[in-house]
Amino acid sequence: MKKKIILTGDRPTGRLHVGHYVGSLKERVRLQNSGEFDEIYIMIADAQALTDNAEHPEKVRQNIIQVALDYLACGLDPEKVHIFIQSMVPELTELTFYYMNLVTVSRVQRNPTVKAEIQQRNFEASIPVGFFCYPISQASDITAFKATVVPVGEDQMPMLEQCREIVDKFNSVYGETLIKPEIMLPSNKACLRLPGIDGKAKMSKSLGNCIYLSDTPEDIKKKVMSMYTDPTHIKVSDPGHVEGNAVFTYLDAFCKDEYFAEFLPEYANLDELKAHYERGGLGDVKIKKFLLNVLLAELGPIRERRQMWEQRIPDVLNILKEGTKVAQAKAAETLHDVRSAMKINYFDGDLIL
Ligand code: ATP
Ligand code: MG
Repeated sequence: MKKKIILTGDRPTGRLHVGHYVGSLKERVRLQNSGEFDEIYIMIADAQALTDNAEHPEKVRQNIIQVALDYLACGLDPEKVHIFIQSMVPELTELTFYYMNLVTVSRVQRNPTVKAEIQQRNFEASIPVGFFCYPISQASDITAFKATVVPVGEDQMPMLEQCREIVDKFNSVYGETLIKPEIMLPSNKACLRLPGIDGKAKMSKSLGNCIYLSDTPEDIKKKVMSMYTDPTHIKVSDPGHVEGNAVFTYLDAFCKDEYFAEFLPEYANLDELKAHYERGGLGDVKIKKFLLNVLLAELGPIRERRQMWEQRIPDVLNILKEGTKVAQAKAAETLHDVRSAMKINYFDGDLIL
């Protein structure tokens, strides 16, 4: 039977935030504990992070350990998953080089996530070639591990589509070699793309609108109390809008009914709270305070585990080293298959020039 394999990861461009948590990390921990997967690889994508941070390699380097701490804090278990550093697996770069020949410039230009990110980074006038090619390198990351499932947020959909096209193209040109992956999106709609505290479409390290998993309760309080809500809801008595209101999107992502019993017993569930807000008579301070309590309850155990791992940095480095060793061996196997399929394995057996 075909093995079930997961590959996913994050760019070490900053500490991880609650968007990562609901969009991907929480799901990874669930999948890790489901026992349904034969192999799970979690990649710290430092090489990809360099594609738009070439002049700040120190930022990428310093954040590798921060991302690893966030992983362990969320409950990823190095006994069950291989956490590794992308650039320490050079096989991935070689695969990228071969895949580049299977993709056209216009195809990458049509990728909506690339388009949005070029705009966001003011790269319109001069796009670094490496940045432009990162969807192709992402296809290498996924296929190198023969991943069948890639659990990610919604912004990664175009990347997965592009990867699947590369697999089809490779297999049709060189023969059946690569595995076609499936995307796995969070089932909760609010978690697909969590907005920033400024109400912008996506909470993102690059936009500075994040609540980080490592934020102190005081930081979280400041951020929640300053959150974007509904600009037409001026007086408490005004009817308010729930749609597009970041506080409610966060509640959709994080709230469980039992939090009402604990923190806001006048309501039984989120539907009742929303209905009151829409009717009017419910102030923003009250919903923000409730959200604050929910976030503190959800993030408390994560922060505590993080503090514990912060005392054990040498162990964290060891986890990365061990994970990278396993990942490198796996990628080397795939590279071997790829070179054989392309018949560029010149020195294997008889010279086949
Ligand atoms: P950067 O700004 O450097 O691109 P980022 O915040 O977008 O950082 P990534 O490392 O690019 O984070 O994304 C890692 C994973 O987290 C991806 O699977 C992505 O889909 C998911 N993700 C990132 N931001 C969100 C969000 N706001 N909501 C849901 N999922 C998210
Ligand atoms: Mg991103």
